[in-house]
Amino acid sequence: MFNKVVIANRGEIALRILRACKELDIQTVAVHSKADSDLLHVRLADESVCIGGATATESYLNIPAIISAAEITDANAIHPGYGFLAENADFAEQVEKSGFTFIGPRAESIRLMGDKISAINAMKQAGVPCVPGSDGPLSDDDGDNLKTARDIGYPVIIKASGGGGGKGMRVVHSEAALINAISLAKSEADMNFGNATVYMERFLDNPRHIEIQVLGDGAGKAIHLGERDCSMQRRHQKVLEEAPAPGISEKQRHHIGKRCVRACEEMRYRGAGTFEFLYQEGHFFFIEMNTRIQVEHPVTELVTGVDLICEQLRIAAGLGLSYKQSDIHIRGHAIECRINAEDPNKFTPSPGKIKLYHPPGGPGIRMDTHIYSSYNVPPYYDSMIGKLIAFGDTRKIAIARMQNALDEIIIDGIKTNIPLHHRLMHDGYFHEGGTNIHYLEKKLAQED
Ligand code: ADP
Repeated sequence: MFNKVVIANRGEIALRILRACKELDIQTVAVHSKADSDLLHVRLADESVCIGGATATESYLNIPAIISAAEITDANAIHPGYGFLAENADFAEQVEKSGFTFIGPRAESIRLMGDKISAINAMKQAGVPCVPGSDGPLSDDDGDNLKTARDIGYPVIIKASGGGGGKGMRVVHSEAALINAISLAKSEADMNFGNATVYMERFLDNPRHIEIQVLGDGAGKAIHLGERDCSMQRRHQKVLEEAPAPGISEKQRHHIGKRCVRACEEMRYRGAGTFEFLYQEGHFFFIEMNTRIQVEHPVTELVTGVDLICEQLRIAAGLGLSYKQSDIHIRGHAIECRINAEDPNKFTPSPGKIKLYHPPGGPGIRMDTHIYSSYNVPPYYDSMIGKLIAFGDTRKIAIARMQNALDEIIIDGIKTNIPLHHRLMHDGYFHEGGTNIHYLEKKLAQED
C-alpha cells in the first residue's frame, strides 16, 4: 500500500478520501487554495500545501503546483476526487510521468471515454446497448445528414463529441430545422470544447437516468456493483440519487451489469467508473462513461457494503479487487440528498458564514460534509456543501429516515436547498418511484 497520498481536491470528497487513507494507514497531504485553509480535511491531514490563489485555475486545476506538492512532500500517489482534474487525461499522464501513481484509470481510458464518439464505438464493440444514432461524426454533406436523421426517426438530438456538463446539445423535431441546428451545434461545440465534431442520436422523450458502478483491476478483471437512479435532476444536475433503482429487476441488473463488466475487461479498465444510461420502456441506452468516483457513490456503498474509495486506493496500489462478482449482493435501499448552499427557490448560490451546524443522526443516517459551525462557504467553487444519505431495509424506511434527518439537520447563516428535499420526500410520485429526468423541472414549474 502507499505510504503517502496527495488529495488533489477540496470539500466533502477531500474529507472522504482522507478518512479512507487514515483507515488504510496512509499518510495524507492536503493541497488547497488560499481560500481553503480552513477546510476540515486540511486541518486533519498529516501535511498541507497551499498551491495557489482562490480560483480553481490558480489552484485545483494547477497541474505543476499539484505535482510539485507531491514532490516536496515525497508522496507516492495522487487522488483527484471528482470534478477539477479527475477526468483530465493529460493530468493523469503527467502524474505518472513524474513518477507518481494516478489513483484512477490509465490516461488512454480517460481519453477514450472523454470523446463520446469513441466511447460509444467501444461500447458497441463490447455489446453495451447505445442510443440508435449516426454511428460516428456527422458529415459535411446536408443530404447525408438528412438521410441519417430520417433513418433514426425524429425527434433527434445533436451532441458534441467532446461535450460535457449538459452543454452543446440540440434537440431537433423536424426535418426543416435539422441543417441549421447542425451548423449551430458545430460552432457551439467548437467554441465550448475546441472540437467541432458532432453526432446524432434519437431523442428519448421520457427516460430515467440509471447508471452502473464498476470496479476494474487494470489487468482485465472487473465487477459491477449494481445501479443508481439519478433521474431527479434540474438543468442536467443531479439533485437526489438512490440505489437500487425502483422497479429494476435482479435479472435486468445482471444483464446490463454483465455488459458493463465486459466493456471494462476489454479495455483493461483500472479503478472505479460509472456507465451512464438512459432507461426507457424497459431498455437501457448508454450515453457516457465517467472515469472517476462519483458524487453519489455512497448510495452504492450502503447497499453493497463495499468502500469504493478504499477499493480505488487498493487497486491503484496494485492489490487488485477485494471482491468477486459473486461477493456483491444488493441489500436494502439508500437515498442521497445533495445539500447545496443556494436559494431554495431561485437556485442562486448562497455562500457565506455558517453560524450553526447541527448534523442529523440515528440508524441508517450518514452525512458526508466538510462544514462545521463558523465555517465560511467560499464563493469560488461548486455550491454543494454536503450529502445526506439515508439507508433502510426497504425504500419506505429509507424515505422515513431521510424525512427525520431533514427535520433534524440545522444549517444556519446561509440558504440551502433543504426545503426542496423536504418537498421531494413528501412527493407522491417520488414515493411511487421511477420518475423520469423531466419530473423535477415540471414539478418546480407547476409550483411557481
Ligand atoms: P454531458 O456529458 O454533457 O452530461 P450526456 O450525454 O451525459 O452529456 O447527456 C446529458 C443529459 O442530456 C442526459 O442526462 C439527458 O438528460 C440528456 N440527453 C442526452 N442524450 C439524450 C438522448 N438521446 N435523448 C434524450 N435526452 C438525452
